[in-house]
Amino acid sequence: MATDNRQMWAELGIDLKKHDMLMNALPPIYKDIYLSQKNRPKGMGFFDFVVGDIHGIRVQELRQHAKNGTTVVATYCVFVPDEIVLAADAIPVGLCAGTQFSVPIAEEVLPRNTCALIKSSFGFKLGRICPYVQTSHLIVGETTCDGKKKMFEILAEYHPVYIMEVPNKKTQRSRDLWRGEVAAFQEVIEKQTGNEITADKLSKATRLVNDRRRALQRLYNTRKANPVPISGKDALLVTQVAFYDDISRCIKQVNALCDEVEKRVAKGEGVFPAKTPRVLISGSPMAIPNWKLHHILETAGAAVVCEESCTGTRMFSDLVPETGGPVEEQIKAIADRYMQIHCACFTPNEERLDDIVRLAREYKVDGVVHYNLQFCHTYANEAVKVEKALEKEGIPLLRVETDYSDEDAGQLRTRVDAFLEMIRR
Ligand code: SF4
Ligand code: SF4
Repeated sequence: MATDNRQMWAELGIDLKKHDMLMNALPPIYKDIYLSQKNRPKGMGFFDFVVGDIHGIRVQELRQHAKNGTTVVATYCVFVPDEIVLAADAIPVGLCAGTQFSVPIAEEVLPRNTCALIKSSFGFKLGRICPYVQTSHLIVGETTCDGKKKMFEILAEYHPVYIMEVPNKKTQRSRDLWRGEVAAFQEVIEKQTGNEITADKLSKATRLVNDRRRALQRLYNTRKANPVPISGKDALLVTQVAFYDDISRCIKQVNALCDEVEKRVAKGEGVFPAKTPRVLISGSPMAIPNWKLHHILETAGAAVVCEESCTGTRMFSDLVPETGGPVEEQIKAIADRYMQIHCACFTPNEERLDDIVRLAREYKVDGVVHYNLQFCHTYANEAVKVEKALEKEGIPLLRVETDYSDEDAGQLRTRVDAFLEMIRR
């Protein structure tokens, strides 16, 4: 199998030397961060396997699909509608953008003062170390933030890229623009795949993507229990894997995990003692394998019980109405659902503040940690409003600005310790 993988990576144009370095670095990190946890649900075994074979079986599957004529569409942001990709019999795959390893590679081209997520994703392509990028026929970007928008222009010199224009306001004019963008995306995908998106196919794809959302909602609901039945690290990993695993398999595995953790809730069993301080993380997304803040918090004695993030509730909170009807009507319903993602790229974005307060109450948290990737200006500026909103509600907040490196880990631990001391019951 390992030999097969090496041959596959070579055929994909992977830089094997750099890739070996990345693959050798991951297992000890995973062992330290994940496998060292106590009392994990058995259902996490599947997700451990997926990470353990991160560039193996799933890439082989995608390659086989591609050889059979299926289009692979790579994405970075929760604004790109998977429903449309699936309805054209193509496969959407969320790309990794969460490792420090690819950051210095990107810095050979991109300015250093760019957020780590952008640099990490670009470095994967520039360094030829991501087999998912190499397998994909098209990368779909968006105009959510200036850094990404301009990075995609450069990325287009290396790989086919299509950009969706996400508006910055939530007015009716902006909604109309976005509906037009989603309809244009339908045409692009139909052309790319050569497959027509019919009303029936779109309804089925909508149900499927909703099923994944429902499974993740179910998992998150168990995290409202005290004691919490699953660690924040494990729940984050499930969401991260959901971005790129086969959607039907993922739904099955998440639901099987939910069966198990719901039983834990019924029995009052948890992974941490009931008195453990409960924390909500809100802010920039945490792409795989970015587990830094969760690890610091949970090894310092907190339980992360929810993420208000695109690798959290923003990914799955709202469903697309499953009303069926003509393709045009379904496209509008899909577009309208995606406009309910309260990304900091919008102005104003009061709905996100309401969400944070509501989630803090629903998950009965003792405090919120606002997570900001360094150089992510939208979330950094919006943190000022988050702070005010939480202060009004009497909910303690810790603002964290960091990147993917470990340089500030000691300093972060000190700040996290002080925060937990303050909110401990
Ligand atoms: S934070 Fe905004 S730009 Fe980033 S993934 Fe989420 S919706 Fe997309
Ligand atoms: S974290 Fe911020 S700066 Fe980075 S890609 Fe997302 S919105 Fe852009």
